[in-house]
Amino acid sequence: MLSPQEIERYDRQIRLLGIEGQEKLKKSSVLVVGIGGLGTVVTTYLAYAGIGRLVLVDDGFVELSNLNRQILYAEGDVGKSKASVACKKLREANSKLVLECYAQRFDRDLGERLVKDVDIVVDALDNWETRMLLNEICVKLRKPLVHAGVEGWYGQVATIIPGKTPCLYCIRPYKSNEKRDIKKTISVVGVTPGLLGILEVAEVLKLILGIGETLQGKMLFIDLLNLEFKVFEVKRNPECPICKHVQ
Ligand SMILES: [Zn+2]
Repeated sequence: MLSPQEIERYDRQIRLLGIEGQEKLKKSSVLVVGIGGLGTVVTTYLAYAGIGRLVLVDDGFVELSNLNRQILYAEGDVGKSKASVACKKLREANSKLVLECYAQRFDRDLGERLVKDVDIVVDALDNWETRMLLNEICVKLRKPLVHAGVEGWYGQVATIIPGKTPCLYCIRPYKSNEKRDIKKTISVVGVTPGLLGILEVAEVLKLILGIGETLQGKMLFIDLLNLEFKVFEVKRNPECPICKHVQ
């Protein structure tokens, strides 16, 4: 049930979603893995949208070079734990939000425990090794996963419904010894994770509400510099070692 304050706060979107829609958001829980360029945007917009419960994971600390894009952090936060700063800022933004913040490395044990307990998972990571682990856990536990990745002016978004759509491994088979993943510092302009993070939140909202078109079985590629937006269909790999047995 929404309080009178919540009905006032969300008035502009209740006009679109109805009270029922807003209540669906309040009853929902979302896990966001990574609170960097994508994750700070994703968690902010989910908190302001009125999602009921948010779970955040990041074991990093705020660095000065994060501050071109990681918009939950300020100059005075440099050196502090990302999870604890993010939690404090999000709590100030929305006191009704149930928040769980983990300043821990996302490993299999923590991952299975957290994924099991939420409705939707958002990939806001910056490396394929952890992303593949997250994909595997979401497939195993049959949880929808909204993926985004960014670099430079480029980004991609896809929504994975285990058993229905391709999983991330079907789309991009990854071997853990890939050289490209070894602690490479990526170049990125702040607007790229900003836009892609918002697209991830739009996917989450539509999945919860059961409305509109989502990127299930599709991948959206964006080249912001040349202003190209392209949607490609992606197919399940019948031999995929991660999802071939999932119906
Ligand atoms: Zn697969």
